[in-house]
Amino acid sequence: MSEHIIVFNAGSSSLKFSLFKADDLVLSFHGQVDDIPDTPKLIVKDEDNKEILCQEGFKAGHSSAISTLFNWIESHSDGMEIVAAGHRVVHGGRNLSTPEIVDEFILEELKALIPLAPLHQPHNIAVIEAFTELHPDIKQIACFDTAFHHTLSKEAEQFALPRKLTEEGIIRYGFHGLSYQYIASQLPEYMDDKANGRVIVAHLGNGASMCAIKDFRSIATTMGFTALDGLIMGTRCGNIDPGVILYLLEEKGMSPADVTNLLYKESGIKGISGISHDMRDLLQSDAKQAKQAIDLFCYQAAKQLAGLITDLGGLDAIVFTAGIGEGSGVIRKNICDRLDWMGVELADSENDANQSKISSNSSKVEVYVIPTDEEQIIASMTIDAISPKEG
Ligand code: ADP
Repeated sequence: MSEHIIVFNAGSSSLKFSLFKADDLVLSFHGQVDDIPDTPKLIVKDEDNKEILCQEGFKAGHSSAISTLFNWIESHSDGMEIVAAGHRVVHGGRNLSTPEIVDEFILEELKALIPLAPLHQPHNIAVIEAFTELHPDIKQIACFDTAFHHTLSKEAEQFALPRKLTEEGIIRYGFHGLSYQYIASQLPEYMDDKANGRVIVAHLGNGASMCAIKDFRSIATTMGFTALDGLIMGTRCGNIDPGVILYLLEEKGMSPADVTNLLYKESGIKGISGISHDMRDLLQSDAKQAKQAIDLFCYQAAKQLAGLITDLGGLDAIVFTAGIGEGSGVIRKNICDRLDWMGVELADSENDANQSKISSNSSKVEVYVIPTDEEQIIASMTIDAISPKEG
C-alpha cells in the first residue's frame, strides 16, 4: 500500500481531484467528476495524462461522487491508502491565514464566510462535508485562496467606505492566492538575484488577476472583496464604475440576481465579443468583436499592471501564468507592447515558443512564463499540516 494525499478543487458542478504520493509529492493520478448534480461522470487520468477510467451511471451528488472515486481508489491494483485530503477553499476571511485542519469550529468559520463567496464557498463546503460523512477518520486540510494576501498593507486592503464597513470586513481580500504562493515558491528556480525582488505575477485564466510580490509576499492584488474586481476575465467584468450597478438596479429595474448573473456570467471577453468566453476561440476568430475583446483585455491588464508598480516601488520581473498566460504569446506580446514605455521588451522567438524567459537581453524588466500548479501547493500544505511539528 502506498500512502497518498488527495487534493480536491470543487467547482459549481464539477470536482477536480489529484492523487499525490505522500513521501515525495509526485502526482500519481488526477481527474474529475463532471455534472455532479445531474448525470455525473468520473474520469481518471494517469501521470502521463492518459485517460484510464470513464465511469457513468452513479447517483448524483457529492457523496456519491466521492464514494465512486474511493471505490476506484480501493480497487486499484497498486493499492493506495489515502492519509489526508487537501481542499482548495476560496475564502478564509480575516481569521484564516494558514492552512487549517478541518474540525467543527473551522467548518463553522467556513460557513460564516459563505456570504462573501456565495458562488464558490458552498461547493467547497459540500465536498468537505460529504468527505467527512464517508471518511471521518481521514484528516482534511482547508487551503485558502485568500491566505497569501494576508500580507497586504492596510492601504492596499482598504476601500474608501465608512470606517464601520471596513471594520465589518468589507475590504480587499484578493484571490488566486494558492497559485501566487506556488509561483512565489518557484521564483528562485527561474531567476537568481531577482527572485526576492519586485515581481508582478499575471494569473490569466478564465478567472484572471495580478499580484504584486516583494520578498515572496503579496503586497497588492487586483481582485478585491470578491473575485469580480480587477482584470477583465472570461465572463466576469473586472473593474467597473460601481455607479453602473446602481443604474442597472434602479433605472433598468434588474434584480440583484440578474445583476449578479450579468457581472459574473455574461460579461468579460464573452460579453464584449458576443462570441465566446474562451480566449482560444477569440484568437482564432476573424470577427472585429473578437479583436476588440482581446485588445480591451490586454489594455486593462497593462494598465492595472502599471498601477501595481507603485505598490512595489519599481519592477524587476513580470511572470505570466495560467491558461492564457502560459499558452498565448500573442496576448503576452499585446500586454507587454503596452509597457514598452518602461523598457519592457520581449524576445519574440522565445515568447512565441512559450519559453521560460521571454524578455530580450536589453529589456529593463525580465519577463517569464511559469506554469502554475495549485494542486501541488495544496498537497505540500496538506503534508505540512499533518506532519508532527518539531520542538
Ligand atoms: P481556469 O481559470 O478555469 O483554471 P485556465 O487557467 O485553464 O482556467 O485558463 C483557461 C483559459 O486559458 C481559456 O480562456 C483558454 O482559452 C485559455 N487558453 C488555454 N490554452 C491557451 C492557449 N494555448 N492560447 C490561448 N489561450 C489559451
